[in-house]
Formats: sequence, structure tokens, C-alpha cells
Amino acid sequence: MPNISEKELNKIRNSLLEYKKQLQQEIHDELIKEGSSPALSLAGKVHDKQEESLSEMLTEINLGLLKQHQHELKNLEAALRRMEDGAYGICIDCDAPIAIARLKANPTAVRCISCQAKHEQA
Ligand SMILES: [Zn+2]
Repeated sequence: MPNISEKELNKIRNSLLEYKKQLQQEIHDELIKEGSSPALSLAGKVHDKQEESLSEMLTEINLGLLKQHQHELKNLEAALRRMEDGAYGICIDCDAPIAIARLKANPTAVRCISCQAKHEQA
């Protein structure tokens, strides 16, 4: 990790761990909510078509958020694993060090800015 000092790496690791705790809590809460969601129990009762689709919509929104949080958690765990492997802060496409400013703004980044731009175009 040529461009990150031990101190900065520890800072990023701590914020990742903090965020991971937060995410796990949110996912936990969302799962509980899904299990006893008023929208879900409503969906079983309403006969009015419009209300039914509204309930479905609400359920889909919740699932979308849950999915997004699970996705973030996965990225986060991958970043922590790369830290342990000493591969953190290295672009997975071109092996160049990722700018520290980019890592601070986006700690789970796996690509340097130019590779990320190419990746998003593809
Ligand atoms: Zn790159």
C-alpha cells in the first residue's frame, strides 16, 4: 500500500467497522419490519385493486432498500478483507494505487478513477 500510511489505513478501517455495525443494525431492523410490515398484512386483506398495488409498491421499496444495504455490507466486508490481505487501495483492474482522497470519500472503492470511469461506461 504505497500511498496510504498505517495511521490513515487504521482511520479508514475504524470508519468501515463503524459503518458495518450500523448497516447490520439497519438490515436487522428492516428484516424485522418486513416480518411484521403493516403493508404486508394489509396486502392480504385489501380487496380494492388500487390499495393492493400500493401495498405491493411499499413492500418492493422496503426490499429494494434492504437489498441495497446488503450490497453495501458485502462491499464493506470485501474492503476489510482486502485490508487484511494488503491489497486495499490497489486498483483491481490496473494494479495502480487508488488516490487517498478517493478512498476517504469512498472507502469501498476497488478501482482507480480512470478504471472506474471505463467500468461504468462498459
Ligand atoms: Zn485502475
